[in-house]
Amino acid sequence: MREQRREMREERRIGLSRLSSLIEQRHTKHWRMRCLRVHFVFMAPNFVRPTVRGMEGYTPGEQPGPGARVVKLNTNENPFLPSPRVMQAIREMEAENLRRYPNPTADAFRVAASKVLDVTRDMIIAGNGSDDILTIATRTFVPPGGTIAFPDPTYSLYPVLAQLEEAKAVSVDWGKDFSLPIDALLATKANAIYLANPNAPTGTFVSPFKVEELAKEFPGLILVDEAYADFAEDNCLALVEDHPNIVISRTLSKAYSLAGLRFGFAIAQEQVIFEMMKVKDSYNTDAVSIVAATAAIEDQDYARKNWEYIKQERQRLSSELTQLGWNVLPSQANFILAAAADGRGRDAYLGLKEQGILVRYFDKPGLKDKIRITVGQNHENNALLAGIKALMTPEKAA
Ligand code: PMP
Repeated sequence: MREQRREMREERRIGLSRLSSLIEQRHTKHWRMRCLRVHFVFMAPNFVRPTVRGMEGYTPGEQPGPGARVVKLNTNENPFLPSPRVMQAIREMEAENLRRYPNPTADAFRVAASKVLDVTRDMIIAGNGSDDILTIATRTFVPPGGTIAFPDPTYSLYPVLAQLEEAKAVSVDWGKDFSLPIDALLATKANAIYLANPNAPTGTFVSPFKVEELAKEFPGLILVDEAYADFAEDNCLALVEDHPNIVISRTLSKAYSLAGLRFGFAIAQEQVIFEMMKVKDSYNTDAVSIVAATAAIEDQDYARKNWEYIKQERQRLSSELTQLGWNVLPSQANFILAAAADGRGRDAYLGLKEQGILVRYFDKPGLKDKIRITVGQNHENNALLAGIKALMTPEKAA
């Protein structure tokens, strides 16, 4: 016991000295990440679950401080403010609403959403962002030691969720032109398939017919993550009626401009939602978010105008980048994935960052030549295009 304590103290000492030496070298490119990694390698207390000690966790996109003057096209937020009805609803809240616990199942929201989506209230579960919904789904449908399968590249949270559940994450390659690899997914014999549709970070879309084909063959859960569905030409909601193994996940972060609020929800058959309700935290959505999310989803006219604008700008941005020699995947989301004309994604990302334009770069196979660009307002997209042209100019001159 004493020996163990001595070892822990020594680990801590080495960890701290490595950490401070790294902080001194913070001019190096990735000092923050390296500090975190060193911190994690040397200092994770040995009473932490081995799985947690051994994992990296999810890396969210960069969020600059409030005063930062940047064109922020890196985390797929909506470029417009939320509906004015949202702020009004928050202002009208009584302090009494905060003194008391909120409604545990966010019923006001569920009723409003059920009218918009033409489903019953009991087919909906609300969550603290759709990440919370994904966690609830994983805990409900994937046993420890089980398997989650997904076509890759996709949302990088999925393997993290599997790890936390002590489950395996099995990725399969997308089919040609990002079609659904049905046979490969079936061959995994997973407990659950997670399908982001439209997919992130590609923006590509799989038709509901293909998802239905999979649902007929697959005995486990199919979680269709529709975080970006409001920007797409179709969605899988209607499949829920005939397929108890389909759960649709949605969010108010993108389509309703409420990423800071944290509100998401899932739709599935009532007996499926009933099981998910047992797994969620007791009060997983707070009183303010319930009021705000309800006001947002009730203002469909406001939201729809905004989706149309984004779709038009997506089209413009895609064709202008194509004219510049970039290769843009056809997107049905509020972002595009574009391969740099010179194939150097990281350079484009860093070059844009130097100009105060944030986009997202993924240092992963198949993505290294590309950047993911959130569709912004017209002036933001113009700034991005100008930034890219500026990066390309020296090459043209050479
Ligand atoms: N699914 C996908 C595919 C996403 O890209 C995101 C955003 N990072 C989410 C779910 C989570 O969104 P939120 O938790 O804000 O609802």
